[in-house]
Amino acid sequence: MPGQTIGIIGGGQLGQMMALSAKYAGFKIIVLDPTPHCPAGQVADEQIVAPYADVQAIEELAAKSDVLTYEFENVDLKALDDVADRVAIPQGTELLRITKNRLREKTFLNQAGMKTAPFVAVKSRDDLVTAISKLGYPCVLKTCEGGYDGHGQLVLHQQSDLDNPEVEKILEFGDDILEGWVDFQLECSVMVARNASGDTSVFPVSENIHWNEILHESIVPARISPATAKRAQEMAEKIAHALDLRGILGVEMFVTSDGEIYINELAPRPHNSGHYSIEACNFSQFAIHDRAICNWPLPKIKLLHPAVMVNVLGQHVAGAKELIATKPTWHFHDYGKAEVRHNRKMGHITILTDDLEQTLKEIDDTHVWRDKH
Ligand code: AMP
Repeated sequence: MPGQTIGIIGGGQLGQMMALSAKYAGFKIIVLDPTPHCPAGQVADEQIVAPYADVQAIEELAAKSDVLTYEFENVDLKALDDVADRVAIPQGTELLRITKNRLREKTFLNQAGMKTAPFVAVKSRDDLVTAISKLGYPCVLKTCEGGYDGHGQLVLHQQSDLDNPEVEKILEFGDDILEGWVDFQLECSVMVARNASGDTSVFPVSENIHWNEILHESIVPARISPATAKRAQEMAEKIAHALDLRGILGVEMFVTSDGEIYINELAPRPHNSGHYSIEACNFSQFAIHDRAICNWPLPKIKLLHPAVMVNVLGQHVAGAKELIATKPTWHFHDYGKAEVRHNRKMGHITILTDDLEQTLKEIDDTHVWRDKH
């Protein structure tokens, strides 16, 4: 209820936008993050400055919070389990256990009746060779845990790629997965939320364009047929029920040219591809997450306006700032990160559009995102 406290593990931009939205509803926010004055810390009532896995810090966070949530999947599960008797953790730990490990996640998805890329568990170079003989080239070698934005994975096109030193680095993790290639036409995602009463909210399908495995643009609604979009939303909802989900979940999908949908990944939190919802929907993904973890009733989501979201990475910050003067209708978001780094997500821009092609051209014409690297 308003006046009570939501504790967030992780203080990045997702935590920041979750916190901002919860502040509108009158909640107090406390954030745990090792970086003083982190993005979420800037808008929270309080920040505990400590590593994410610091047991004492998590205990302090639990003691000061009524509801605990997180903004990324690499949360220390044992530390969460240890405080579960003292604070409500609506999302539980099972969701994290499944989604933080690619092998468990894909196995769960297949059991829930979803199609995924074919996959084989890999623990050694011998396993890798056997897995390639099953799946063929191209294929993708990934660490089961800890990877993000293309880190911890490598596409293998031919036998000579096995000599790439990256292969050894990934094998050193000891718990890897080899995935067969999905020849997709486009990548999409659907945000879905569910509360303890079983209400769900499903967002429209977002079409995601990646550059260097980092999200570059999201286009909503995705350029797929209404029938495919409906199926994508139904699949997301089915996954939410199978997980007994509380809170929001990002469901990343591959869509092939014949409309087949493969589930790529699950993100048990708000997702970059859902940022457009702040301006384009009747409720944002952050507001819905807050409602879901507090067991408020969940609304039907409406897209109020088609939108394009473009990410502002470190190399785009200077150019994006210059655009503020000339783009009065663009919604500029800056996460307030102190250190600007190449490929670091620093902010995003949402543009409500009546003419998608024209808007995509307008973004191109700025030349801010000209260099794909
Ligand atoms: P992931 O971290 O699993 O989301 O992978 C990052 C990106 O690599 C995806 O967004 C895809 O563009 C590409 N990718 C990953 N796995 C596959 C696959 N099995 N088949 C085709 N493309 C893939």
